[in-house]
Amino acid sequence: MLLAVLTAAHQAIADVVRAGDLVIDATLGNGHDTRFLAERVGATGRVLGFDVQADALVQTRRRLEAHGLVDRVTLVHAGHETLGAQVSADQEVRAVMFNLGYLPGADKATITQPETTLAALEQACAVLAVGGRISIVVYPGHEGGAAEAAALTAFLQTLDQRSFQAVRYGFVNQKNTPPYLFLLEKLKPRYS
Ligand code: SAH
Repeated sequence: MLLAVLTAAHQAIADVVRAGDLVIDATLGNGHDTRFLAERVGATGRVLGFDVQADALVQTRRRLEAHGLVDRVTLVHAGHETLGAQVSADQEVRAVMFNLGYLPGADKATITQPETTLAALEQACAVLAVGGRISIVVYPGHEGGAAEAAALTAFLQTLDQRSFQAVRYGFVNQKNTPPYLFLLEKLKPRYS
């Protein structure tokens, strides 16, 4: 069985995250990725998590509390486009995870937007440690999703291949426009 998109994202991130690392969940949603990251960084690590919906913070906190992980996570009720301002210059971020689209079970009108997603991604690229990775799960099937996927593709194509590896992973023979995954790895300290 081949890896599903979310599993592939977790595996690629798990490969580089070590105990004590600083990592970011750029879209808390219902907190699955936050929990995964909090487990990986251990008691000495730190997870910074962003969401614009209060509900997402509530759900994520509940999930973290249930697993005794809340102490290693900072939940930020703000857009991920403020990510750069939350990380100081001397901090290196090992991994950043994005899971785009809308929060399942909530208002489908609150979706991630190309402009802010790209702003966050650029900031994530800047604060990422060499050898660090970024995962982005994209949902081209919902309204606005295809435009966001196209904007991301266009941006990723501009990244210098000496500074970043950028790959795409996903099923090509599933019905109903399935989600797919972008993975980035930083190769050099400076990019653009
Ligand atoms: N589509 C996924 C879940 C995505 S959740 C699935 O089906 O499993 C995406 C989250 O991004 C939502 O909780 C939403 O509130 C959040 N979001 C939207 N705009 C954002 C922004 N600018 N910064 C941070 N989070 C944002």
